[in-house]
Amino acid sequence: MTANSSNTHTGNSFLLTNISELYTLSPLAKEGRLTNVQMSDLGMERNAYLAITDGKVVASGTGEPPKTYQAWKKIDAEGRLVLPGFVDSHTHPIFAGTRSNEFLMRMNGSSYQEIAEAGGGIKSSMTATRSASDEALEQSTLANLKTLLSFGITAVECKTGYGLSPKEELRLLKILRRCKDKVPQHLYVTCLALHAKSPEYPTFKDYANACETELLPVIKKDSLADAVDAFIEKGYFSVDDVRDFFLTAKKLGLGIRLHADEFTDAGGGAFAAEIGAITADHLQFASDHSIQMMATSGVIATLLPGSSLYTKIPFTDGKRLIHAGVAVAVASDFNPGSCVLNNLSLIATTAAIHCQVPPAAVLAGVTYVPAVSLGLKDSKGALANGFDADFTVWTHRSFADWLADFGREKPRMVYIRGHQVY
Ligand SMILES: [Zn+2]
Repeated sequence: MTANSSNTHTGNSFLLTNISELYTLSPLAKEGRLTNVQMSDLGMERNAYLAITDGKVVASGTGEPPKTYQAWKKIDAEGRLVLPGFVDSHTHPIFAGTRSNEFLMRMNGSSYQEIAEAGGGIKSSMTATRSASDEALEQSTLANLKTLLSFGITAVECKTGYGLSPKEELRLLKILRRCKDKVPQHLYVTCLALHAKSPEYPTFKDYANACETELLPVIKKDSLADAVDAFIEKGYFSVDDVRDFFLTAKKLGLGIRLHADEFTDAGGGAFAAEIGAITADHLQFASDHSIQMMATSGVIATLLPGSSLYTKIPFTDGKRLIHAGVAVAVASDFNPGSCVLNNLSLIATTAAIHCQVPPAAVLAGVTYVPAVSLGLKDSKGALANGFDADFTVWTHRSFADWLADFGREKPRMVYIRGHQVY
């Protein structure tokens, strides 16, 4: 990678040249379409250039750049693949402690129930997180975000969820707010207070009610989150436990994202459609009725194949969702217990192999579709003119090389708004 500084540099303008394959996803971004993604929607240009001014894409094309750009500083991509920066729309990056002991127990044949009885699961992360200082949590979260950046992730949804009381969840939200100013990525914050039952409340419903009355007004007043989320599952929160919480959240203008139908059909997908959620995530056991409702209401399905790989639960059938007309995103689900993976390239290839998501939908699923789910439909997840110049340059020379590589290679370079950040 060489920067030719002998050319005249015009402001913050530069040309990325000699790109073997450039994927702009412009056809999708121009239409704002999220479904029926074909290879022709990916806006692929061979032997391409990308022109950038003040952090935005202003032009792209094949062959020699037009004369207007000839005098700009040039950065030689050396015949490599260039993709839009990845958007990871489901992560749990703020926690303390490790759950490697539980992994060992699982590999030695312990059941989830035995692990929970031994103090494991979400509760063990809660205990460690509650006892960690603000400073320690901020440092570990920043380190996690830096790792995500090294995998080409330029925008990230970050969930809380290991505080499990209104007071502790507020603490985590405030730490995430501080992290926003310290990383180059765009951070979108989701309050997942309703991740599991709080030990301080007798029932799931009591805890959800406390979060509705004590947490939501503060989140709104201090602008602490973009969205709220809950783990809707048999043995966790039921739809009835959380309905009032989400109705209030909606009135306050907060986005709604849901963990739905991961282990059983608990009606989470249908509830997502009913309540007007942005996304419903996991969905291995979503009923046909739920999927149809999601398609009709435009709820985005987020597939999280990393947790299936890591905990040996079934993979979500992405083909079924796509055929029903549901928009599909693919995210990491990075968390300390059920998915320690944060390599979105590996997860994208896993979605292709195990969730039967076609290659074109895989690329849209880690770029433009999740960007739309984070409210970034005009700025991230594509390299159309006017979009932020968030992109990755790979060792690979083609999209096929990248998808077939199974995440072995990290990007050589990561740019956010025209600045090299990795
Ligand atoms: Zn999750």
